[in-house]
Amino acid sequence: MMIAVVMVTVAVPVHALQQAQPTQAPSLLDRLNAMMSGGKSAWSDDQLRTMERLRDRAMESDYAYEELRHLTDNIGPRLSGSPQAQKAVEWVADEMRKLGAEVTLEKAQVPHWVRGAETGELIAWPGQAAGTKQKIVLTALGGSVATPAEGITAEVVVVDSWKELRALPGGAVQGKILLFNHRFDKELAATGHGLQAYGGSVVYRGAGPIAAGAAGAVAVLVRSAGGGDYRSPHTGMTEYAPGATKIPAAAVTAEDAELLKSLTHEGKVTMHLTLTPQTLPNADSYNVIADWKGTEHPEQVVIVSGHLDSWDLGTGAIDDGAGVAVSMATLGLMKELGIRPKRTVRLIAWMSEEEGSEGAAQYMKDHAAEMKNHAGAIESDLGADHPTGIYFAGKPELGQWLRPVGQVLDAIGAGTLENAPETGEDIAGLTARGVPSFAPIQDSRFYFNYHHTAADTFDKIDKKHLNENAAIMAVLAYALADAP
Ligand SMILES: [Zn+2]
Repeated sequence: MMIAVVMVTVAVPVHALQQAQPTQAPSLLDRLNAMMSGGKSAWSDDQLRTMERLRDRAMESDYAYEELRHLTDNIGPRLSGSPQAQKAVEWVADEMRKLGAEVTLEKAQVPHWVRGAETGELIAWPGQAAGTKQKIVLTALGGSVATPAEGITAEVVVVDSWKELRALPGGAVQGKILLFNHRFDKELAATGHGLQAYGGSVVYRGAGPIAAGAAGAVAVLVRSAGGGDYRSPHTGMTEYAPGATKIPAAAVTAEDAELLKSLTHEGKVTMHLTLTPQTLPNADSYNVIADWKGTEHPEQVVIVSGHLDSWDLGTGAIDDGAGVAVSMATLGLMKELGIRPKRTVRLIAWMSEEEGSEGAAQYMKDHAAEMKNHAGAIESDLGADHPTGIYFAGKPELGQWLRPVGQVLDAIGAGTLENAPETGEDIAGLTARGVPSFAPIQDSRFYFNYHHTAADTFDKIDKKHLNENAAIMAVLAYALADAP
């Protein structure tokens, strides 16, 4: 059950948490033959030339970068149900109409959680100078309930893991504030396995309130699920078990987690915690759908997508304004170069990925009868750093088929094709229904330093890397939409 709960809260593709299916290795001769461009290709020389034009223009263009600047600097954070989320919906729709796309807003009900005051301070600890307090830097987790307005005061208990919690004597956590001090594995992230490092931490953020509440805690703290160490807390969705007591939940910074661990090791530590978020009734919101109509099979669609909502501490530049911007750029580049593939290229700016993927769930309901017409789906939701290629979910043969596309992208260092069971949270429903799905393989070494923090802002975007992602999105979308 915990895994199921946590899957909902992971705000990035989960494919890298799982092993790709082993496949029978082709012989060296097969591989050499396949690597030579003279091999059979699903695409004509003209089509491959079009992919090269899309790639090259994407690398020179300002479009994705300037659209992302507006989305983040002008509109700002886009929490589900917020006025900025609504403004972003209208703005993406207008921008796509300007290109000549056919735009539809598809309604979805989304959570409407609003952050309030959030403060923490130690009021008693071993070695305290008389009359002093110590600030604890923290932020409420998405969906958290509030403390009373005047806050709560309780002793802090620190555990590093579920195992340590289970080993505590009965009643050890009763009436206390429990901190899960699970360290984000920076070494794992540094080797390019950011998602795995996040996966190890995010389970505590997702399920911490359930476990702490069951143990009798009056509030729960989790160590931030990220690699940043500038005393910046990392928010994100958390979960409560149906019917169980809901306790207030916040993330403390890595530094404050270390402080609490150190002081509680010496003796009793008492903390005053105030969190006043509100959970308002669900709000009406929208997925933005913009169709770049196909010339031969307009009813068949290839999706390019990112999620439009974001957390509220920063402005959601890397998570996931970038994914929306490179999807917008796909249509922008096709307009600019006068390219109309045979099938429709459909931009989707998904709503409320962060708070439970309500937009994606609604799309699956509304379009259930049209699954056969979905030729492919791409989502970018792991930032905007250098991409090294394409993850694909589908039959292993899909990788072989995509090889000419990989060769086009090889010129920008993005020619790798890697099979993965899943590609993106919003397109997971499509993947499960057998729609081939794809995601850029993004460099995740630094993503989780900023993800869900106040530092997820436009300045983190490297234009060249963003354009590489736009190139993957546009080239792959064209390849899928114009393939025989
Ligand atoms: Zn995201």
